[in-house]
Amino acid sequence: TYVIAQPCVDVKDKACVDECPVDCIYEGPRNLYINPNECIDCGACEPVCPVEAIFYEEDLPEEWTWFKDASEDFFAQV
Ligand code: SF4
Repeated sequence: TYVIAQPCVDVKDKACVDECPVDCIYEGPRNLYINPNECIDCGACEPVCPVEAIFYEEDLPEEWTWFKDASEDFFAQV
């Protein structure tokens, strides 16, 4: 899955939302989240993010890997 990390916090540009073919990007209180159960790994969202907040999970910078867990927690609550 792709994951949205720190640069999105308090930015929430939402360019990615229009790009996602399966509409799996959701708005949280401070940043957007990609639903890992719905993401088809197409990669369309990544290049359109103006703050480069989107990473393939394996490519997340070390300090931001926790965003993957935060995303799973976000969708577990719904
Ligand atoms: Fe949507 Fe594709 Fe980005 Fe996954 S990788 S969130 S399916 S645009």
